[in-house]
Amino acid sequence: MKYKKCVKCGLNYVLGEGDVCDLCRAEEKNNKKDRRVLCPFCCENLMDEDDIMCKSCEKKNLMLENSD
Ligand SMILES: [Zn+2]
Ligand SMILES: [Zn+2]
Repeated sequence: MKYKKCVKCGLNYVLGEGDVCDLCRAEEKNNKKDRRVLCPFCCENLMDEDDIMCKSCEKKNLMLENSD
């Protein structure tokens, strides 16, 4: 079996099909998934696109709800 080096990092060998190693492939996937947007509540923190608010606002909200 012939190994070729990853075209992206040039460090790791590509074990399967394709031109990039597993590490770079995982990184690419992460980058695509990592779509962060600014929290509309505090306008300070980043949050996932699907989230309603950032983690810090979530915490604040929880505290408000529990402070009865
Ligand atoms: Zn690589
Ligand atoms: Zn926030």
